[in-house]
Amino acid sequence: MNEKCSLCIQIFKPSRIATWLGPNGAALEIPEFDIALADVDDATICESCYHDGAAEMKYPDSFELHYQFGLEFEKRERIDEARKALEKAIAIKESPEALSTLAITYDGRAKIEMLKRALKIDSTCELVRLNLLNNGIDPDEILRDG
Ligand SMILES: [Zn+2]
Repeated sequence: MNEKCSLCIQIFKPSRIATWLGPNGAALEIPEFDIALADVDDATICESCYHDGAAEMKYPDSFELHYQFGLEFEKRERIDEARKALEKAIAIKESPEALSTLAITYDGRAKIEMLKRALKIDSTCELVRLNLLNNGIDPDEILRDG
């Protein structure tokens, strides 16, 4: 259940093991880690290697690198780090999923404007549509009104 960072070779032990029901009813054990770890290509990268720039050196202009860490930081409610990582991801590729995740780190008008922008990139993106609906906005109405 341990994970090893492919760059610094540090080994991380999970802080807890979550149990989920798999599709066939069998229990799945998912290790959870205190520190953020992301999978890019076939590598696992730790947050220290992300923050010190080693990961960017190895994977320049990688959307996945920044997006995966954006998700990991958002999940851990480390909002400043999540925003920085997601903004880098979006600068590489205007992804509706990344914009939608960035949007939920904001409140009010900023959040809604970002979700609308994401919807205009891909009007069929389920994550964007769901986030709009969760904020009481009908995505089809926005598309109709232009
Ligand atoms: Zn590392």
